[in-house]
Amino acid sequence: MELIIKNLSKTYSNGVKALNDVSLHVKQGMFGLLGPNGAGKSTLMRTLATLQDADSGSVILDGLDVLTEKQKVREMLGYLPQDFGLYPRISAEKMLDHIAQMKGVIKKSDRKFLVESLLNKVNLFKDRKKALGTFSGGMKQRFGIAQALAGNPSLIIVDEPTAGLDPSERNRFYNLLSELGENTIVILSTHIVEDVSTLCSNMAIICEGEVLMSGTPSEGISQLKGRIFQKSIEKSELDSYKLEHKVISTQLKEGRLNLRVESPMEPGNGFSPTPTNLEDVYFSFIAQKMDPITL
Ligand code: ADP
Repeated sequence: MELIIKNLSKTYSNGVKALNDVSLHVKQGMFGLLGPNGAGKSTLMRTLATLQDADSGSVILDGLDVLTEKQKVREMLGYLPQDFGLYPRISAEKMLDHIAQMKGVIKKSDRKFLVESLLNKVNLFKDRKKALGTFSGGMKQRFGIAQALAGNPSLIIVDEPTAGLDPSERNRFYNLLSELGENTIVILSTHIVEDVSTLCSNMAIICEGEVLMSGTPSEGISQLKGRIFQKSIEKSELDSYKLEHKVISTQLKEGRLNLRVESPMEPGNGFSPTPTNLEDVYFSFIAQKMDPITL
């Protein structure tokens, strides 16, 4: 199973170029699409989910043309969109039963079996009679995965699934997602570096509609190995440091700024070397396009 995206471009009618010649090769397993807000992630996800057309380019899923053979792709697809609307009064069990029916599971006993196994998989069996409107953010996202899995998909797309989850909900969700990747392609779009470092065997960084990097997280890290240095400074000193160094991120700590810079050699000036992490890789790439990020 593989997904090959070639030279995909999309400009909205207001002139915003959301995808600019995007090419990616996505293999089986968990693939992280990492980029800041407005990078074009949802546009790409909706295009892959056959909900939106591109202007040019091609997307091939195991020989199937995703851009034209939409119905066939939909039969293979599980999609958890960014804004996942739920009918608030209906129970989780009833809703999943309805979704299974729409996906063509005609026999009531087959549906009962499917719905129960999905509820167990996402750890919502005990909550199955509760109305969806009473679910917490984490429960809603887990329900979203259950509905995406209903048709036994071979391509699963989840768009910004952990935004708004608290740390324990996020952990549970990570555990659930990590079980999906084995026999399918799972594409996870996110602006949260930890999502990718925790879950993904392959990744891409996208910004302003362009792919800036793709590969494994450790390939990204090794590209920057030995090039990251840090120093604690006063907030007021930041602008002068920006003039002399490639500042890739800053983090406030006890009222001071912890500055991380990228440099091919020791910058001196009180900076000390520090191990490269995936966040450095992300910030280093997007610094080509945007101002440094304050965490
Ligand atoms: P992301 O998911 O990475 O935040 P999006 O794909 O939602 O990025 O958006 C990419 C760019 O396209 C942004 O500048 C956004 O404002 C713009 N955009 C998204 N959807 C539309 C639309 N329907 N019409 C016009 N512009 C849009």
